[in-house]
Amino acid sequence: MPRAYTLEKTRNIGIIAHIDAGKTTVTERILFYTGKKHKIGEVHEGEAEMDWMEQEQERGITITSAATTCFWAPRGEEKKQCRINIIDTPGHIDFTAEVQRSLRVLDGGVVVFDGVAGVEPQSETVYHQAEKFKVPLMGFVNKMDRTGANFYADLESIRERLAKHAYPIQLPIGAEDNFKGVIDLLTQEAFFYRDDLGKEVEKTEIPADMKEKVEFHRNELIEAIAQHDEELMNKYLDGKPIDIDAFKRVLRHLVINNEIMPILVGSALKNKGVQLLLDAVCDYLPNPLDIPPVKGFNPKKPDVEEIRKADDSEPFTALAFKIAADPFVGKLCFFRVYSGTLQAGSYVLNSSTGKKERIGRIVQMHANHREEIKEVYAGDIAAAVGLKDTFTGHTLCDESKPIVLESITFPEPVISVAIEPKTKADQEKMGIALSKLAEEDPTFRIRGDEETMQTIISGMGELHLDVIVDRMKREFKVEANIGKPQVAYKETIKASAEAEGKYIRQSGGRGQYGHCWLRIEPKGRGEGFEFIDEIKGGLIPREYIPAIQKGVKEATDKGVIAGYPLIDLQVTVYDGSFHEVDSSEAAFKIAGSIALQEAVRRANPILLEPIMKIEIITPEKFMGDVIGNINSKRGQIEEMRDRGQSKVLDATAPLAEMFGYATELRSMTQGRASYNMEFDHYAEVPTNVTEEIKSGREGRSRR
Ligand code: GDP
Repeated sequence: MPRAYTLEKTRNIGIIAHIDAGKTTVTERILFYTGKKHKIGEVHEGEAEMDWMEQEQERGITITSAATTCFWAPRGEEKKQCRINIIDTPGHIDFTAEVQRSLRVLDGGVVVFDGVAGVEPQSETVYHQAEKFKVPLMGFVNKMDRTGANFYADLESIRERLAKHAYPIQLPIGAEDNFKGVIDLLTQEAFFYRDDLGKEVEKTEIPADMKEKVEFHRNELIEAIAQHDEELMNKYLDGKPIDIDAFKRVLRHLVINNEIMPILVGSALKNKGVQLLLDAVCDYLPNPLDIPPVKGFNPKKPDVEEIRKADDSEPFTALAFKIAADPFVGKLCFFRVYSGTLQAGSYVLNSSTGKKERIGRIVQMHANHREEIKEVYAGDIAAAVGLKDTFTGHTLCDESKPIVLESITFPEPVISVAIEPKTKADQEKMGIALSKLAEEDPTFRIRGDEETMQTIISGMGELHLDVIVDRMKREFKVEANIGKPQVAYKETIKASAEAEGKYIRQSGGRGQYGHCWLRIEPKGRGEGFEFIDEIKGGLIPREYIPAIQKGVKEATDKGVIAGYPLIDLQVTVYDGSFHEVDSSEAAFKIAGSIALQEAVRRANPILLEPIMKIEIITPEKFMGDVIGNINSKRGQIEEMRDRGQSKVLDATAPLAEMFGYATELRSMTQGRASYNMEFDHYAEVPTNVTEEIKSGREGRSRR
């Protein structure tokens, strides 16, 4: 069966937002309008809305699905119907890892802003991540109907805090209760919404009182576009009429290259502006051909780069980006196809594990149903049923043309807590539930503490772990008690050092002989662990090198200061010796481990702790107390801003000091302040605090 939609007509997008900005509502409305094929400007009967509302439950499921497919043709261009795959991005800050993994597989994004609050911390975080992955973005200023909504203030905060290259391509007509519609700046069409159901939309002239504003922002936009295209610029300077199609073409190009971030406006709740947003997704966000071909390496020859173009005739290459437990079909593995095609029932190589797996069924989620499909093509997003050993970040590919794509990297968990089943009966169920949840979420880890025999779960924040425990209760019916949260400290080194590891035993018969020299060097934060083999001339036979590496790696599990994992270091084995008879893998493994511990002791080891980024919104009169309190927590105020009548404080503080902050802030401000917190980076623990942690005498808040 040939593909139904060309690559040019495919969009893989994410809707990205701070919690409560309206991501769910925007997605709902998108699915509504695309499902009903209602075009803006059409008058239609109201029958559809009701059935739609009745499907609430099903909708809920779809909206939280990892990817949903829908179809849309921009106004006046019926032949250009696009297939839009919406990839879910989570709304809460604790789940930035989830955002990162979705950013990897989407080609463009819509950032939803709250028209009252403007740029919020999550929009900022996600924006910077999107920037890192070079994902082209559009902004949608939502909630224009709310009291306090101010498009121009939002635009200013977007430009100031996120993107200097943000340009409105629309302006709102009115605001708050009086928000009536949207003006398209390029075409100069005004769309008046006659009701709040988005049923009657009238296209009119630009209202007289907005002419000046429209002219100002239109000229600004046109100049920003023309600046990048000599021909358009010359025509514009000569005062020739604006060729809208040419401007749209160049704007599309600029959006894809991240040179302009178009800003749109509306109210999802009141059904205003959503169809125009869909038009803009088709008009300006990239298709899979607009982004650079995906790169990876050949698993058999790791130094050979492999490139796959978005093309059905290339070998099959896909990235698994989400594992989800589905109540009906079991484990679903969502994947993005970068190149080639794949039929249901065929075999693929999981090049990350080296195992072959059979793709049983392939399904795609739509607004209100799940569709089984026979084949997927380059640029598609679908889910496979029946993959046992495939997890997030794995590459699936054609066995005869193996490639490993860059895996998705996740931050290490920063917080852990002991968890205990309430009853004996819960014991076994808890194990199953936790491992299922860990399968879905790579930033969630489980381990058994050998000393205390407890189960320890770790994640990205208190809320993250709360959500996991809550899901365990709701989905798996397991009741559990959880202990006090603990900080996930790490250890690292500040200097380079060399050390020798010798494991030599002579005991009667065959002895033991392992001997190596290691050089260790610090790496940048987040760069991880790297092992380099510099052994030349068979000083140590090839077959023992992996054993040394294993010994070294195991030794990094427990650092020398307080037994926390060692991170961000490079280890090189450069010298050593062996014995014809007595050498063994086991002996070299021990030698590697001894050498590493000794080298770390000589390399100025330090303790690292997670530092959180915090945004606090408080009435001015409590500001002094809030600042004093943050300062007492080894925190730092980075910036202060006004937001309406409130003050916004940007601060950083160690996680160890922030447990229970919600309660503290509430009582300090009579419940009038609120805050957001997310992991920012790991930093060196001050010496006096290190001493406390080492001796287990840490402050109450930390234990
Ligand atoms: P999410 O957390 O980003 O998914 O946000 P939701 O879509 O759940 O919306 C959060 C709240 O804002 C809900 O109560 C919505 O009804 C409301 N909301 C969403 N969009 C709008 C809008 O355009 N106008 C107004 N007034 N409220 C909205």
